[in-house]
Amino acid sequence: METVYFDNNATTKVAEEVLEEMKPLFCELYGNPSSMHTFGGQIARKIRRAREQVAGLLASDPTEIVFTSGGTESDNAAIKGTLAAVPDKRKVITTRVEHPAVLTVCRDLENHGYTVVELTVDKQGRLDWRQLEELLDDDTALVTIMYANNETGVVFPIDKIAELVTGRGVIFHTDAVQAVGKIPLNLSKSNIDLLSLSGHKLHGPKGVGVLYVRKGTRISPFMLGGHQEAGRRAGTENVPGIVGLGKACELAAENLEEENSRVKYLRDKLENAILEKCPDSRLNGDKDNRLPNTSNISFEYIEGEAILLMLDKFGICASSGSACASGSLEPSHVLRAMGVPFTAAHGSIRFSLSRYNTEEEVDYTIEKMPPIINRLRELSPFVAK
Ligand code: PLP
Repeated sequence: METVYFDNNATTKVAEEVLEEMKPLFCELYGNPSSMHTFGGQIARKIRRAREQVAGLLASDPTEIVFTSGGTESDNAAIKGTLAAVPDKRKVITTRVEHPAVLTVCRDLENHGYTVVELTVDKQGRLDWRQLEELLDDDTALVTIMYANNETGVVFPIDKIAELVTGRGVIFHTDAVQAVGKIPLNLSKSNIDLLSLSGHKLHGPKGVGVLYVRKGTRISPFMLGGHQEAGRRAGTENVPGIVGLGKACELAAENLEEENSRVKYLRDKLENAILEKCPDSRLNGDKDNRLPNTSNISFEYIEGEAILLMLDKFGICASSGSACASGSLEPSHVLRAMGVPFTAAHGSIRFSLSRYNTEEEVDYTIEKMPPIINRLRELSPFVAK
């Protein structure tokens, strides 16, 4: 079997339809959307269309969509842009399980005189968001809480949280990089002020993303220069990327139903079989409130990296945690925050599926996993022989 790609939370394949939309924008329609001539004007129209496609997926207004270079920029812009707009407030609230694109920025704020509070999660990765009631005060500038966790897939009740936070006059940002395109979002019915998404997580291209900014939200421009993106994010637009992201959002809207039925079925089949056939394995994360494509499983007494290498020999791609955190031997900060024992956290594997996966790939992986786990346990110094 060729490559079996179960690492879609790290990045996804660009949809063929997306690539087709992007192709003419390199050598045929290469004008600058800010130019006065007709040649440039048609490119400006393409960007307008992409803005509508993104807004359509989020049920928001096109004027609320700001194109960026990806999830990391959107997260940085949301946090730093908010704090610059409300300079008199010095407190930020976030969670211990955020992606580094949020967590590292927040932790750095502590070096600049800010108080940063990190909410905790329980053993299943669920957030006790009612802690916020007491923590929100007049000094709080921003609350930033992810929509869905990239490692476990656990989904937080963001609409309820946004209602509580904005009801207290505090700006609310959510990193929805893993949620957009996998579960339905309706910003017209939500109090979310700022939301980050990234093209390459939903079968769009890399290097393009969006910061959704609700009308009336106070935020400073995050790139100064020309007046692109209504003066919020200067710089000649990444036109092929933006057009590709627009198409990816349109396709995501069409495929949401499949994501939540067929993809979920495949994920559940894979997960249930592995948990049943591999002793001393356990699921990490709230079984019920999860992205339909993600499964994070711990295997006691063995290293996640060793499992990945053996899977790789069979052409199966998975991950031992966040793509950005892999390469370090520290167990994942998300699993540690959940209190997963050290021996299990070290042996954790994330499978993340997409609409391009097949049942045949799932069956193939189910066949390969038990012998891999048994073999590694035989070699493990932690297993009594
Ligand atoms: N936020 C989350 C939850 C992510 O999973 C990622 C990527 O893994 C990012 C932010 C960063 O997005 P990007 O790779 O587009 O910068």
